[in-house]
Amino acid sequence: MESRNINLKHFKAKAAKKKKKYNTFLKGIHSRNNGKEINKMAVAFDKEAFQKIDCLSCGNCCKTMTPTFTTADIKRISKHLNLTVAAFTDKYLERDKKDWVNKQQPCQFLGSDNKCSIYEIRPVDCAGFPHTHKNNPGFVGASSVNRDFFWRCPIVYHVVDSIFDKVVNQK
Ligand code: SF4
Ligand code: SF4
Repeated sequence: MESRNINLKHFKAKAAKKKKKYNTFLKGIHSRNNGKEINKMAVAFDKEAFQKIDCLSCGNCCKTMTPTFTTADIKRISKHLNLTVAAFTDKYLERDKKDWVNKQQPCQFLGSDNKCSIYEIRPVDCAGFPHTHKNNPGFVGASSVNRDFFWRCPIVYHVVDSIFDKVVNQK
């Protein structure tokens, strides 16, 4: 059976080679007339990616990006840590325009084993990441986000790579 482990160094090198091509593809994806079909493909390829890839061997999202924390996330996590909301935000978060985001990367809750120490109560944004399974706004509607993610997240890369193969290479 093929290994589900990600070698981040290899992944980054592979993604760098396709960065320009897939960036151009995603930029122009709105003008394709089979958007609904592409959205459906994304949901299926997202499922396939999670079967092929073990996130615990990667952790690159938690290492290099920040989730957005909703008010409910902040209240829940503060309570769990026995901190006031003010103490929690002061210690860990900062504003990015209107959003609350982590001050530091990697995330303070990421362990050396790539496990999240607040997994059960993690931000909703983390629980849904990388969002390629979502129907709203769908893969085409989220193309600018996917342009930002595909070279950092092996799951998104798999989805983009597979859709490109179907739509452009007609494989
Ligand atoms: S969601 Fe993507 S970036 Fe995050 S751990 Fe899984 S494969 Fe890696
Ligand atoms: S809260 Fe957990 S899942 Fe979210 S970025 Fe931090 S370590 Fe990763």
